[in-house]
Amino acid sequence: MMVMTHGDRALPPERVCSVEDARSGLRGVIVIHSTALGPAAGGCRFWTYDSPDAATEDAMRLAEGMAYKNAVAGLPLGGGKAVLRMPEPPFSRGELFAAFGRAVQALDGEYVTAEDVGTSVEDMEAVARETRHVAGLPPREGRPGGDPSPWTARGVFEAMRVAARARLGRELSDCTVAVQGLGHVGAGLTRLLHAAGARLIVADPKPGIAAKVAVECDAEIMSKDAIVDARADIFAPCALGGVLNRQSVSRLHARLVCGAANNQLADESVAALLADRDILYAPDYVVNAGGIISVAAEYLGWEADAVQRRVGETGMRLQRVFDEAERSGRTPADAADTLARRIIAQGGADAAVAA
Ligand code: NAD
Repeated sequence: MMVMTHGDRALPPERVCSVEDARSGLRGVIVIHSTALGPAAGGCRFWTYDSPDAATEDAMRLAEGMAYKNAVAGLPLGGGKAVLRMPEPPFSRGELFAAFGRAVQALDGEYVTAEDVGTSVEDMEAVARETRHVAGLPPREGRPGGDPSPWTARGVFEAMRVAARARLGRELSDCTVAVQGLGHVGAGLTRLLHAAGARLIVADPKPGIAAKVAVECDAEIMSKDAIVDARADIFAPCALGGVLNRQSVSRLHARLVCGAANNQLADESVAALLADRDILYAPDYVVNAGGIISVAAEYLGWEADAVQRRVGETGMRLQRVFDEAERSGRTPADAADTLARRIIAQGGADAAVAA
């Protein structure tokens, strides 16, 4: 087992640690972007990368994103991420994640892991045999934990309610919402919107999923390629990252974008394109923090009602970002980043306001 710390960079994360274990095939990186607010928390991605550098770049970008998300959510957590490269088969998944658990343990609580793309509850149970610095485990009776997606959906819903009032001057019962992606979060969000009386248009490429949700929620179905063109008031990206680009923004009819997907803006310039078209963008990491709030509660031993309360305050945190954007003349995306960096720089002194 090797855990190696690399040198500083110009805009450095605090630490970039290579993790390797020849026996199990573990190869990857743990990036600790910031521990200014607490242990660096962020999931473990298990994916195929062309090179170690590509894995490290991805981990650094994701770790910084987690630091911002945790800061704006008012959590006493920094930001980090693990990216593990999928080895050639055959390999033992249990042994690989146990070796990863030992690497997490070697950091002695500086980094806290959980599920991300490509990892499961079973993988985190293997990690938990080696370290206690892991969340996303099966919930214990009456305690926070388990699948965070329902909390993510709830947070997006609360944010959308506030954003609809801010941009459209309407309640969700008077809005049409186009939901792109009906997976764990998108389907849950669609059900909450249906219960609130919203009109719905949905899309998902998986056969059967769109039909099932459409019947349940009285929704219109569009193809995955056409949903961006939907005649809706609100566009809710709940599938892939990078969905907002020059081309898709020019096609949007919605006046508001508010959804769960991570990294919705293909690049930073898209925030200005949205503003130019007078489309209000609710920054993704501000509205989709419900899941990490649940994960944080599990790791930090909070009561279940703390999750309910903090996720319920997602709309309030989004409103703060909108207010900051208006006051400073920045886009909401820029205002959120500025707010996050300020909270981190102040070591959480401002976090009480964000919480
Ligand atoms: P998921 O994999 O359960 O669902 C994604 C769905 O999107 C799938 O049903 C898939 O078929 C569909 N999809 C893929 N391409 C599509 C396209 N072009 N158009 C329409 N649908 C498409 O994922 P999830 O857990 O629901 O997460 C959704 C998004 O929210 C992801 O970007 C994820 O990173 C982000 N997110 C999730 C959580 C969480 O708690 N699960 C937390 C924060 C952010």
